[in-house]
Amino acid sequence: MEHVTFKHKRTTLERADKFISSHHFTDINLRSRLYPEKQPLVSIQHYATPDRIPYSQAISQTFKDTQVGHSFGPTWSTHWFKVELEIPKSWHGQEVHLLWNSDSEALVWIDGDAIQGLSGENERISFPLREVGDGKSSHSSNGRQIVYIEMACNGLCGCGLNGLINPPELKKCFQLKQAEVAVFDRQVYKLLLDVEILHDMAKEMTEDTERGYQALYTVNRMINECTVGDSSSYQRAQKIADEFFAQRNGDSQHTIYAMGHSHIDTAWLWPYAETIRKCARSWSCTLRLLEKYPSMTFTCSQAQQYEWVKQHYPSIYKDIQKFVKSGQFIPVGGTWVEMDGNIPSGEAFVRQFLLGQRYFQQEFGLKCKEFWLPDTFGYSAQLPQIMRSCGINRFLTQKMSWNIYNKFPHHTFWWSGIDGSRVLSHFPPGDTYHMMVKVKELLYTLKNFRDKGRSSRSVYLYGYGDGGNGPTEEMVNKLERMENVDGLPKVKMSSPDEFFSNIEQKEEKNLCTWSGELYLEMHNGTYTTHAEVKKQNRKGELLLRDVEFLATIATVLSGTSGSGYKYPSGDLDRLWKLLLLNQFHDVLPGSSIGIVYTDAHEYYRDIQKTGNQLLDKSLAAIAQKGDNSVVVNTLGWNRREVISLTKGDKSPSRKKIKTGESSQQVDHKGDDLVYCEVPSFGISEIPQVDIPAPVTVNQTESGIQLSNGLLSAVLDNNGRIISLCNTSSPQVNLINADYPGNQLLIYDDIPLYWDAWDVMDYHLETRKLVDNVTQKAVILDKGPLRVTIQVCLRISEVSHIKQEITLDAGSPYITFKTQVSWHENRKFLKVEFPTSIHSNKVSFDIQYGFIERPNHYNTSWDSARFEVCGHKWADISDYNQGLAVLNDCKYGYSAIDGILRLSLLRSPKAPDADADMGDHEFTYAVMPHQGCLQESGVIQQACNINSPLIIKSGNNLTTCSSYFTVNTTQVILDTVKLSEDSGNKMVLRLYETYGGSTTAEISTIFKNITVQRCNCLEEVIPDERFLNVTSVGDQQTQITIEFKPFELISLLITF
Ligand SMILES: [Zn+2]
Repeated sequence: MEHVTFKHKRTTLERADKFISSHHFTDINLRSRLYPEKQPLVSIQHYATPDRIPYSQAISQTFKDTQVGHSFGPTWSTHWFKVELEIPKSWHGQEVHLLWNSDSEALVWIDGDAIQGLSGENERISFPLREVGDGKSSHSSNGRQIVYIEMACNGLCGCGLNGLINPPELKKCFQLKQAEVAVFDRQVYKLLLDVEILHDMAKEMTEDTERGYQALYTVNRMINECTVGDSSSYQRAQKIADEFFAQRNGDSQHTIYAMGHSHIDTAWLWPYAETIRKCARSWSCTLRLLEKYPSMTFTCSQAQQYEWVKQHYPSIYKDIQKFVKSGQFIPVGGTWVEMDGNIPSGEAFVRQFLLGQRYFQQEFGLKCKEFWLPDTFGYSAQLPQIMRSCGINRFLTQKMSWNIYNKFPHHTFWWSGIDGSRVLSHFPPGDTYHMMVKVKELLYTLKNFRDKGRSSRSVYLYGYGDGGNGPTEEMVNKLERMENVDGLPKVKMSSPDEFFSNIEQKEEKNLCTWSGELYLEMHNGTYTTHAEVKKQNRKGELLLRDVEFLATIATVLSGTSGSGYKYPSGDLDRLWKLLLLNQFHDVLPGSSIGIVYTDAHEYYRDIQKTGNQLLDKSLAAIAQKGDNSVVVNTLGWNRREVISLTKGDKSPSRKKIKTGESSQQVDHKGDDLVYCEVPSFGISEIPQVDIPAPVTVNQTESGIQLSNGLLSAVLDNNGRIISLCNTSSPQVNLINADYPGNQLLIYDDIPLYWDAWDVMDYHLETRKLVDNVTQKAVILDKGPLRVTIQVCLRISEVSHIKQEITLDAGSPYITFKTQVSWHENRKFLKVEFPTSIHSNKVSFDIQYGFIERPNHYNTSWDSARFEVCGHKWADISDYNQGLAVLNDCKYGYSAIDGILRLSLLRSPKAPDADADMGDHEFTYAVMPHQGCLQESGVIQQACNINSPLIIKSGNNLTTCSSYFTVNTTQVILDTVKLSEDSGNKMVLRLYETYGGSTTAEISTIFKNITVQRCNCLEEVIPDERFLNVTSVGDQQTQITIEFKPFELISLLITF
């Protein structure tokens, strides 16, 4: 007689758990029957190579016998296996898998095509074999089948020491644990999934609903019914499950839009070259699933990765094209890579979209509709405007769930940028982009959703990620099973477009708005880590900008000059792609392993070398060859500056410079200093002008006085600023009298979790002065054009600083050219400028504008921003005056109580033990000013520091030529380039930089031009606002255009 028992929840749950366990009772439980019959392979042969070689090269090598149990290495090497297998006749009609576990990543090749990835982790160890004779398998003459397997000696997340995010363990070996053929019992497989879902529902559902208990009783009944090995008992158990899963949800239930996804970091704990193979392994797995499950979708970002697969794996790419067409394989993001969200320049952001969207258009005939940056460390307030100008008004990330101090209040909302541009934004409330399809995640997605009532849908990204791998068949089958089950959110296999469109149609009016940057309260050490990468990124962005300006001018002029110059579109495209690739969200932030930076710096060297060659060529086409020197100003305002002519320069123009005049000086290196003026976007011979006032220096026992008629400063003998005044207000010391400026500081920098990524709030409590001066201030140059003072300091026994402090005639700022020999362990070097200015806010340079952040820690949101990202300058001003810190390659700042600090160097040890070790050179500057930020000239001066006047040999032009001028400093002409599509069109990109409306007049010497407004994709857009083009005499054309605050405007000019 059957006895009804109480069914204790814990014992019943564990009973179900053991029934499907891979670890317990595996000789007797249901899991043990998944592969009821197995057989060894006929033979396994092997060929090892340190290189990542193509298939065709691999198969022509000599393979040698090997067997299960052998180990293969070292890390990053590749092992090719030639496997011969035979399927027994008795298995005919059954599903047969090749089981292969090499404890590493691997790729199955058949007949020269990459078919499917394998991975020892996450148990992706089975490859479904097609029936012999289906025409898609290689056979040896005896009917046996040949399969090649390319084994990579790394795991999904590289090979970090102790399996952690550490520098790689370089001598790691991977054991071939399993290699056999087996019968796969799909009936058992289905039961396993149902038991798991029911077990999880019973475990995860709260006590205030009956549903969890109904699941518990159902799963218990199923196990009672099952006789392991008896197929008819499986059918009876399946029927019990089917009845449960047929019980549906009500209409009001939240809907989860499930999309397959595989986040593949373009480089991180592995090099770029391995990512190419990761894409092949991951995407081939996914393509096999898309073939089998027509309702399944897969979202995939990063044009660069598509391009790699196109080049290296044409058969995979062909399948991708097929499934993009069917709507299952969905390109998303619209960018070249998933880049960092803070550090790239405005133009670099634009190029990410321009090259990305053009790629997707060209390859698949579509443009992405949503920006996709699920894993990036914070998002600039300028992104919404740039996105919209690139045809995108939707945004997805989940990274804000990593906030450590404050929980972000929304999952679906409008994100508004600094100009007021809004984009519809969604953060999948499951808080990750690699869901495993567990009941727990579905319930958490619903529970965690912060916009309940306003919206009743959310995105769910499933599939293994970071190192790739992607969705599994189990995940797809479980989602299908949970499509509409009472007690769980509804599940819909879907696309981003369907999700966002549904919100736009039904819910967008309900949504709240978040204005300004999406500041991530984590990973804020990444503004500083790997300083040389940041420096080369800045230099590369600016070099390509200069090249494009000069190449455009040379192209326009070639029509009349007959120089035969041709715009270097191909080279520029290649160099931009290298620069954009290195902006990937683990490369530019400095959070990759060391070998990634070997590649990154090779690309940067290429950018500098080729970029400078292109610059010389374009300049030669404009200025023509000659022995003289010309000076080039690539910025949009006239500049009067001291320039340095290298000792030994024998050009005639150099000889023309007479020494002994007030506007000349030979500096301590023997270089000639000359004060000159160059017009806006202009090229001219060295045009000397008189200095407004000489710079003077006076050293006494107590310190050094500097003055140049614009500012005066007093330095102590340690090189610190005691006093800093605008000459027009000599009574106001802008430096806090109690604390000197240019105070170098060293902090302990030991984070809680992520070494290269995080600097924690408590580091601020470990502030120590770098005050061990090994060489007190020495005056190297005494004016009248330049004063230079040198000091040397010791940071520790192993690290030292040498600084040249310079004030030039006519310059509103003092520069600190700094050399550091840096060999620290988890220390953070900063420099501090405590001001006497009272203001509640500090302004920071960002892409095409600036943002204000608090100068206090009032709320937890304010104090969480103890370390922030800014570009070329940060400024604190009151109504009458202010002080700015400028720099030529730094991105980390902190500001509190009127103190501005610039972050200089970090020294994390993981995942790159050598990060930032060695010699560094960088320049920062301090600029006191009259008036508020907008009146101060800070923005222009910061550009001057970053884009020094270019001095090159070439013949004099007949007149000083200014190719473009803008009549107001409120509008900056940032980019001048040739159009991507047409050789007789150029693109100008301008932005309003002060945060106010204005009308600007842009003058150019080019005549007979037509001007159209275009977006950042260089597509003509309607002229809804004022745009007027007039000829001024026969010399110039004037373009008049209206700007809104922080508006970014692109113009397409036909010449
Ligand atoms: Zn990532």
